[in-house]
Amino acid sequence: LTMACLTAIDAGTPLNAFVHLTPEIALDQARAADARRGEGAGALNGIPLGIKDLFCTRGVASQAASNILKGFKPEYESTVTSKLFEAGAVMLGKLNMDEFAMGSSNETSCYGDAVNPWKVDDRKLTPGGSSGGSAAAVAADLCLGATGTDTGGSIRQPAAFTGIVGIKPTYGRVSRWGIVAFASSLDQAGPMTKTVRDAAILLGAMAGHDPKDSTSADIPVPDFEAALTGDIRGKKIGIPREYRMEGMPAEIEALWAKGREMLADAGAEIVDISLPHTKYALPAYYVIAPAEASSNLARYDGVRYGHRAKLGQGDGIVDMYEKTRAEGFGKEVQRRVMIGTYVLSAGFYDAYYNRARKVRALIKRDFDQVFAEGIDAILTPATPSSAFGLGEMAHADPVEMYLNDVFTVTVNLAGLPGISVPVGLDAKGLPLGLQLIGRPWDEAGLLNHAHVLE
Ligand code: GLN
Repeated sequence: LTMACLTAIDAGTPLNAFVHLTPEIALDQARAADARRGEGAGALNGIPLGIKDLFCTRGVASQAASNILKGFKPEYESTVTSKLFEAGAVMLGKLNMDEFAMGSSNETSCYGDAVNPWKVDDRKLTPGGSSGGSAAAVAADLCLGATGTDTGGSIRQPAAFTGIVGIKPTYGRVSRWGIVAFASSLDQAGPMTKTVRDAAILLGAMAGHDPKDSTSADIPVPDFEAALTGDIRGKKIGIPREYRMEGMPAEIEALWAKGREMLADAGAEIVDISLPHTKYALPAYYVIAPAEASSNLARYDGVRYGHRAKLGQGDGIVDMYEKTRAEGFGKEVQRRVMIGTYVLSAGFYDAYYNRARKVRALIKRDFDQVFAEGIDAILTPATPSSAFGLGEMAHADPVEMYLNDVFTVTVNLAGLPGISVPVGLDAKGLPLGLQLIGRPWDEAGLLNHAHVLE
């Protein structure tokens, strides 16, 4: 399998999905897996995976697709990758992404755009972002699964754009230790795979309490694969009316209806629900995420990691910080740092950051209420459109790009699990996904509902 993937990557169409290949590590791990075959082999014995560049991997370049981390090779392994390796997984290499996971199209990467294997005519399409390399690699069969991270939709949106499955677990289900931080109260890692079953197996290997991440939860990890019975009789599926956005394409509306029908045919009850604060989610997210990012990214100062600018005569330490950060961070990252610094500044803290936190609490309460009323899962579209063309949005107003996350950010703000499942194609023949949102810690139920939609 490892040889087949390495050959496919070599021969592969230029998707720019992998940004560092690790064939020696892969072959060593694959040989060890062969030796372990049978007795004592883990759930992922010999399974070749791609790892998003946001994960620190020991001795292997881990740059978060940023020039500021050029040459950074961590001396430690992230908890998620350690767990995957313990389960027998093989690492093929590191995957492209938006710089520091900021973006929805993989166009902010220092390695250049990742490309969606799906296309219309000869137009190159985005695989989505920020886990664009992960999505492209899995969709093109360059690996059997990949890790992603999701702060506002970065697993679910690229999964939808490439016709694969992606799950963002409940906040705290998967350790964040060793993953480059973007917005620590929103970040979660999860698997991106071809099928729901593969997602269940991978999530089982990634999840679990980690004393090195104080926000990781000490609760048991169920057997997610065993939960895939397909039996959802009597389950209540909420359809939130606020997600029926004005100007929503008819195709997305039709896909949503198809999803409702599939779940109803399997015996679930479809219920109209209201999540009244939905319209404030995007603005709250784009205050909270940059605020946390501006703080997390303060550590890239030219002293501790990666890149340091060349200094001129008479330059002091402040010049060094300024030049290093101006050279090392791309435009979108600089924009986020500036927005974040602004909303956290003494004069504007109450007006922006504190208000966004209050809105976040209301959004969480909306979900708590519908779950308390007996809703088991919520069905929504995953994205407002199918994959758009590379370069099409790059020069538009950045807010245009932010609108892509309209269906996904609520889940991160509320800390809930969310999954994107491919359910159909649009008129152009491009994949579309639906999102299921679950109760906290109910990834098992969520995966089972998603299995019905496959
Ligand atoms: N697109 C969103 C952003 O740019 C979400 C990114 C993510 O989930 N990492 O912030």
